[in-house]
Amino acid sequence: MTPAPAVDVRDVSFAYGETPVVSDVSLTIEAGEFLGLIGPNGSGKTTLLHLMLGLLEPDSGSIDLFGEPVDQFADGERIGYVSQQSTEQGGSMPVTIRETVTMGRFAHAGHARLTDEDRAIVEDALETVGITDIADRRVTQLSGGQRQRAFIARALASEADLLALDEPTVGVDAESRDAFYQLLESLNESGITIILIEHDIGVVTDRASRIACINTELYHHGDTESFVESDALAEAYGATGQIVHHDH
Ligand code: ADP
Repeated sequence: MTPAPAVDVRDVSFAYGETPVVSDVSLTIEAGEFLGLIGPNGSGKTTLLHLMLGLLEPDSGSIDLFGEPVDQFADGERIGYVSQQSTEQGGSMPVTIRETVTMGRFAHAGHARLTDEDRAIVEDALETVGITDIADRRVTQLSGGQRQRAFIARALASEADLLALDEPTVGVDAESRDAFYQLLESLNESGITIILIEHDIGVVTDRASRIACINTELYHHGDTESFVESDALAEAYGATGQIVHHDH
């Protein structure tokens, strides 16, 4: 039996009031993929991601997460979500990074007493994302770049196998961004499925294995090469003049 796709979106539409934001989108994200989700500002990327994660309900169509209807999906700890808000604010709780990451382990273990093994997994997660040396700092004191690493470490500690990230490097300097995307690539190589919303097309074509390009409707879904060769980018972005492409 082939494993269930990580996310299966079928004929999904969604409107805020009368305005359609996602229109009849179907796409399948296989487990282990690194999907770059791109489109102009206001094209429905965040909305589509929220639909995929069950944070919004579609007006029509259906969505499965790891083979289960998303509204019945009960393994929340399998999903790590770094929202735009989480990198901008990081919550107001006076918790340290290590405490934040430990909470991810609680979510996985399902009980509040951690074993030595659980603690070792927390330390490994801190190490993997490179924040061991700042693990006792409060999350509210971190830079945006450090904060998304803390959220990713929490997802690793909960053994998430899907990471969804919404413009995670807004406000992060170029060097830290590059290191961050290398981290994402190596997490993907270790088997974690990644969905990345990113406005810098160059990052997406460099790092992602597949690309979905939307502007309310889906303009392209396929491997990175076929995307680069297609007209999808120009069509989806039309005359918005929003294309961001940094050459490396
Ligand atoms: P993107 O992530 O591509 O920038 P969004 O999914 O955030 O796009 O938004 C798509 C459209 O839906 C935009 O026009 C935005 O203004 C609108 N929108 C987003 N959230 C809401 C909301 N909560 N209520 C009404 N309109 C919204």
